[in-house]
Amino acid sequence: MHPRNRHTGHYDFKELTKISPELAPFVAPSPRGESTIDFANPEAVKALNSSLLKLFYGITEWDVPTGYLCPPIPGRSDYLHEIADLLSSYNDDVIPQGNSVRVLDIGVGASCIYPIIGHGEYGWSFVGTDVDPIALDSAKKIVQKNEKLNGAIELRLQKSPTDILNGLIAKNEVFDVSICNPPFHASLAEAQAGSRRKWNNLGKGAPRSGVAPKLNFGGQDSELWCAGGEVAFVRRMIEQSVEHAKNVFCFSTLISKEVNLPAVFTELHKVGAEATTLEMTQGQKKSRVVAWTFLNDKEQQEWRKKRW
Ligand code: SAH
Repeated sequence: MHPRNRHTGHYDFKELTKISPELAPFVAPSPRGESTIDFANPEAVKALNSSLLKLFYGITEWDVPTGYLCPPIPGRSDYLHEIADLLSSYNDDVIPQGNSVRVLDIGVGASCIYPIIGHGEYGWSFVGTDVDPIALDSAKKIVQKNEKLNGAIELRLQKSPTDILNGLIAKNEVFDVSICNPPFHASLAEAQAGSRRKWNNLGKGAPRSGVAPKLNFGGQDSELWCAGGEVAFVRRMIEQSVEHAKNVFCFSTLISKEVNLPAVFTELHKVGAEATTLEMTQGQKKSRVVAWTFLNDKEQQEWRKKRW
């Protein structure tokens, strides 16, 4: 985990249940005698998330509709800390902070998770986009119900499912960085197979009905897959980033599968972007972010002088 990640080590269930008593019924001792929850139970994961967001970021009202992705907060935090470091590497090792720093979150999801953490950690303001109106409504409710998010997070519907940046960014609008956790499975069947694998890893065995359960962190089908999978999605994002090369200081996306990196880098070289990979490790899990820019040194300097 990133050294600034505040969610390392064990969850402090004593503190968490004190601030969120509704978590208490889900907490039970593990075989090793430590407090834990059943991570295969979406209601338990949801209650844990609510309590973490309350304790660390002062978010008192948080919910996602049934069946929607309930994201693990430690991993999501890591991406934002990596992005903070990336921006600081362009800024004499000082992280640009405050609400004048604008972040575009592509596929914000029902949980509004990146804007909540990014605003909480660094005071950044966000524009979150999504193609799913239900997810966007849920994110809007979270922002409306939590006063500290008012004015810091704007949500925009991407009306065209084949577009990512097009139709979203106004002509002279600027963002210091764009982030994205893309839908990564190539098909519904692949998403369900992934779901079954996770389920088995949690020791639940194959579902008897033969119907895959929802992923243990929840997840609406449209959240999890896109025709052509992650590479197709990211390729489209790269193509559309060329058209917005001067609107965004730095574009970035998570890449869930390492085998997809060469294809992504081929595309980035083709369009002449300067690109880098940021590696992250959460326990056994490795993940990576690819970031790219089209600005040359002089343009970067000017941007920095003007905005940070
Ligand atoms: N950011 C959240 C949700 C990620 S799931 C999290 O990390 O938990 C991916 C999200 O991308 C879903 O909400 C899905 O509806 C959205 N999405 C899919 N295609 C999109 C597109 N073309 N533009 C914007 N969002 C899209």
